[in-house]
Amino acid sequence: MNETPAISVVVPVFNEEGSLEELLARVREACGPFEPAYELILVDDGSSDGSVPMIRAAAERFPEVRGVLLNRNYGQHAAVTAGLEQSRGDIIVTLDADLQNPPEEIPRLVETMRQGFDVVGSIRVPREDSLFRRLASAATNKIVQRATGVEMHDYGCMLRAYSRPVVDAMLLCHERSTFLPVLANRFASRTTEIEVSHAARREGDSKYGLLQLVSLQFDLMTSISAFPLRAMTLMGALLAAAGFFFAMILVAARLAFGAAWAADGVFTLFAVLFFLLGGQLVGLGLLGEYVGRIYDDVRARPKFLVREVVGRGLPDAEPSHTSAAVGLPAISERGV
Ligand code: UDP
Ligand code: MG
Repeated sequence: MNETPAISVVVPVFNEEGSLEELLARVREACGPFEPAYELILVDDGSSDGSVPMIRAAAERFPEVRGVLLNRNYGQHAAVTAGLEQSRGDIIVTLDADLQNPPEEIPRLVETMRQGFDVVGSIRVPREDSLFRRLASAATNKIVQRATGVEMHDYGCMLRAYSRPVVDAMLLCHERSTFLPVLANRFASRTTEIEVSHAARREGDSKYGLLQLVSLQFDLMTSISAFPLRAMTLMGALLAAAGFFFAMILVAARLAFGAAWAADGVFTLFAVLFFLLGGQLVGLGLLGEYVGRIYDDVRARPKFLVREVVGRGLPDAEPSHTSAAVGLPAISERGV
């Protein structure tokens, strides 16, 4: 299959052996009718289960399937970026491997894209995640909406379609801690959303623990803008003003009611102190998040290493199996 595919479907895979077979069947079923052809890029994000052999087998068997094998686990967004880098379609669709996003929705996304949009997001209805995850998402979506000014409701849902220029622009971005849907909206002029169904995860567990979720939230927040930093300054100023006001009241009350009253007030002072300290620590932590990311970017480490690209759908391809065969170094790195 040497013609350039019109549509690329990019799927990050991290220990998803339980879902891969069904995913493959359903994507092929849903995308089979696409004219001209599509390509399915499965990015292995350092799985330790049977996912890699399954991806290899699929790439061997179906010409439209390609596997990008990363040499270890870099996280969902880095994995998707690795896939985007390999994609050649004019419309690029991303989705999760765990079948929470039904592949049957891909044609609808593509159809909507063809009406002239740069990015088509999706809203999960009904959402099949825990209450905690839903609340966290709701809060995040609100913040992002305010900060980017782009109306999108469900940033967490990775079932999305991007136009080629938007993907190219995203690939030019050098930051390491990216949150792709937000990044995409920076470059999109026409965006829309469609409602898609959402299934509960059937195989395995969510790959996001509490700490990863927190880190992802910070990635998202710091990738939006410096707005949180500004909000922090404002909050700090307000807290300081409140503290000053309190102190004035305490002084006045001491003068009016005497020292005995003031001794009781010690605890109020403590409370105020703790309040201010808390505010400062929140601010410092936030600052640290930015500084940490700046440090990462300054070090400019590659976001991921591709160990191997497998599949037959490569340009002027032999039935080749290594990235070396397509003129790349055996390990291609993507960083700066
Ligand atoms: N994933 C990945 N690398 C990771 C974690 C997740 O490639 O380090 C993939 C995973 O295989 C799945 C998608 O990202 O295809 C979403 O992961 P998951 O379903 O665990 O996230 P959730 O649905 O809980 O947000
Ligand atoms: Mg999932």
